[in-house]
Amino acid sequence: MGLDFTLAEEHGMVRNAVRGMLEKYAPRQQELRDMARKERKFPEELWQDYAKVGLTGCLVPEEYGGNNMGLLALTLGFEEITAGGFSPGLLLVTAMDSACILKNGSEEQKRRFLPKVADGSWKLCFAVTEPDAGTNTFRMKTAARRNGDVYLISGQKMFITGVDVADYMLLVARTTTLEEAQQQGKPKSYGLSLFLVDTKSKGIEKQPIPVLASEGLTQFQLFLDNVEVPAENLVGEENNGTFAMFNSLNPERILTAGICLGMVQSALKKAVDYARERKVFKETPIGAYQAIAHPLAEVKIQEEAVRLITYKAAWAFDQGLNPAEVGTYANMAKFLAADLAIKAVDHAIETHGGLGFAEETGLLYQWIGARLLKTAPVSREMILNYVAEWNLGLPRSY
Ligand SMILES: Cc1cc2nc3c(=O)[nH]c(=O)nc-3n(C[C@H](O)[C@H](O)[C@H](O)COP(=O)(O)OP(=O)(O)OC[C@H]3O[C@@H](n4cnc5c(N)ncnc54)[C@H](O)[C@@H]3O)c2cc1C
Repeated sequence: MGLDFTLAEEHGMVRNAVRGMLEKYAPRQQELRDMARKERKFPEELWQDYAKVGLTGCLVPEEYGGNNMGLLALTLGFEEITAGGFSPGLLLVTAMDSACILKNGSEEQKRRFLPKVADGSWKLCFAVTEPDAGTNTFRMKTAARRNGDVYLISGQKMFITGVDVADYMLLVARTTTLEEAQQQGKPKSYGLSLFLVDTKSKGIEKQPIPVLASEGLTQFQLFLDNVEVPAENLVGEENNGTFAMFNSLNPERILTAGICLGMVQSALKKAVDYARERKVFKETPIGAYQAIAHPLAEVKIQEEAVRLITYKAAWAFDQGLNPAEVGTYANMAKFLAADLAIKAVDHAIETHGGLGFAEETGLLYQWIGARLLKTAPVSREMILNYVAEWNLGLPRSY
């Protein structure tokens, strides 16, 4: 069969289930947004509803308590949540971690973690970034040393989202230092290992970082001082965590693109609703002026194109295609979607004139959210570097 762009019935069901679930929150939307934006309080009730409609179980096979609906289903769910004005922030990290456990974890880890993820009882976060090793992950200093049945982990992590509400974090540390790897003639990617760390472990100090993005969640700098982690919590092979880590970064990028698509929908709706009503000269709504209408129409056209590559990336992941191929689509989708989200929100602000800056429209909050996704979880520049190197075969400058 040739190309088929129809979504399966279960995909439509996920979409409708999420829409239906969000309806219940419609009367309390402002209160919930204030709670997330100003108090940065985690919306536990919403999380439990994500679980009830099956979102926490999408990437978990049935034998481990999930529904196995896949990444495309979850991406559609993310689009709906964000279009509805909410954030799936911690669900993004929990899902990417669960994908990594599923692909690289031991049978015992799958049985211990995945059912708790699927039913919503455990939340996960992800800790890779360090103060002196941001984009350049391989420069990380956090070290894990084996000591009998445990690893002792020491170092620092930066910008770790939701570690205060998560039960476990998937943490990346060096079991071989960069210098040792070089002495052994190994590549710099050698020596990283992944650990499932109980966030309440002794020896973890969490210092909040005030950040103006990521609603309902706080970022933390972590100071780890000989944190004891049972050896059975090592995910995948010691020293070969880099490839295991990439198994979670592809879904993260695809889901981020889904979030951006939801932002585009929400911004476009606000802009169009306002442009139909607002009259400034005579009785002509501002939406009749092409200076207002054309940028919105352009966003609409691009939205469809970005949706196609995003769904293609999710489909490629679900089909189990080679991670490098999935990575190409995932990167491209995230790149285009983040740019479009910023553009959509910016045009919505433009359409609202002065009201674009008023708190009641929430557009500036949306702009911050969209702008964040240009930089994190992977920056626009690093995606261009990836495509230049891996898809075009150009030499690396760094
Ligand atoms: C709200 C928020 C939440 C986050 N949540 C998490 C989390 O949960 N877990 C986690 O581990 N991390 C998290 N991060 C960290 C995030 O992933 C990083 O901030 C991001 O990857 C960029 O790293 P950096 O900040 O160290 O920037 P740097 O690496 O210092 O880069 C600075 C700038 O230089 C550019 N640059 C660097 N190298 C190159 C190059 N070779 N070519 C071209 N340009 C280059 C980058 O693209 C960037 O624009 C979060 C960050 C934020 C702001």
